[in-house]
Amino acid sequence: MKPFEYTRPTTEAEAVEFLGETGVQTAILAGGTDLTSLMRAELASPSRVVDLKQIPSLYQVTRSEDGIQIGALVTLADLVKNPLLDGYRSLFDVVDGVRSIQVQGSGTIGGDLCHLPNCWYFRNGYGLLGQENGVSLPETGDNRYHAIFGNEGAAKFVNASRFAPALMAWGTKVRIVGPATKTGSRERSSGLTVGAEWIPLEYFYVTPKTDRQGNTILKPGHFVSHIWLPDANQISSATYEVLQMEGLDWPLATASVCLNVEAGLVHDASIVMGHVAPIPWVTEDASRWLIGRPLNEETASFAADIAVSSARPLSMNEYKVQIVRTAVKRALLKAIGQLNP
Ligand SMILES: Cc1cc2nc3c(=O)[nH]c(=O)nc-3n(C[C@H](O)[C@H](O)[C@H](O)COP(=O)(O)OP(=O)(O)OC[C@H]3O[C@@H](n4cnc5c(N)ncnc54)[C@H](O)[C@@H]3O)c2cc1C
Repeated sequence: MKPFEYTRPTTEAEAVEFLGETGVQTAILAGGTDLTSLMRAELASPSRVVDLKQIPSLYQVTRSEDGIQIGALVTLADLVKNPLLDGYRSLFDVVDGVRSIQVQGSGTIGGDLCHLPNCWYFRNGYGLLGQENGVSLPETGDNRYHAIFGNEGAAKFVNASRFAPALMAWGTKVRIVGPATKTGSRERSSGLTVGAEWIPLEYFYVTPKTDRQGNTILKPGHFVSHIWLPDANQISSATYEVLQMEGLDWPLATASVCLNVEAGLVHDASIVMGHVAPIPWVTEDASRWLIGRPLNEETASFAADIAVSSARPLSMNEYKVQIVRTAVKRALLKAIGQLNP
């Protein structure tokens, strides 16, 4: 690991200052469960690490007028203990899938959202797109864990966040904090002005065309401070992850759903698939098809067929189509309490 300067800001504004200094390559540290691995492997070699853990506002979970606001440093373990989040079952399902008490205790929701891909080409130094001399290694090599949707361009990795599909199905927004700009929204924090903007989570992730583009809209000097969830009223939710191992493992595929069922018919539905594309993959067609219909084995199965109908597997990952199809069907049935163990 290369030497680096370690800073511990105590306010958001101070963090923005540490992150924004010209000519300094910075990295954000939250729980550190992944950043430390990236630094050890020299996949990240910042000259300054900005540890967010001394900023009290980033630990808060508060009720706002129309929803719940969660600080980016809230750990997985604290999330499930918070009574304000009782109605958000799909999030609990995600925490339950992370089968390590240590990771639940130190991993944060912000760190999960910003987790870089687990693609083995990226993790072995071939960049986000996994290219060697301009040739795509996932295209020509072992691509069994790669994308089956959204893989037409250069990016073949899958988004690593476990929470993003569930949060996106809920219609979550993320608050991004950075240097104040003349045109953007500005806030005062400890005597300084910072830029702060709420963005729908579905606009947070990008499918990069080049290695330098990154896989989120976060610019250098910016960080995620909070997420906002709408009220859980009338909504049933669930996440179904397909894991290869019983222990700590990344899902092969996942599906999260939020449903509003009235008088036995689906009134509103949102279905998002995870670990199948460079971004969490929303299936609007399947959600639309369910509206006005009863939800049962047959309709859940049909909706799952629609959800995977546009999949384009690579040479070694056709199996993921069936896996995510099953995840969608089971997440739908789980949300209404009809999934038999
Ligand atoms: C050995 C090991 C194995 C693991 N295996 C699994 C596994 O199989 N499945 C699983 O789900 N999890 C696994 N994890 C946990 C995984 O790292 C989690 O995703 C965790 O939630 C990341 O959170 P963190 O706070 O530790 O992130 P960090 O490591 O601190 O940060 C992760 C990334 O996000 C950036 N970042 C962090 N916070 C912010 C923010 N607020 N704004 C902007 N950028 C930010 C960091 O710069 C970094 O690039 C494992 C961890 C370890 C140590």
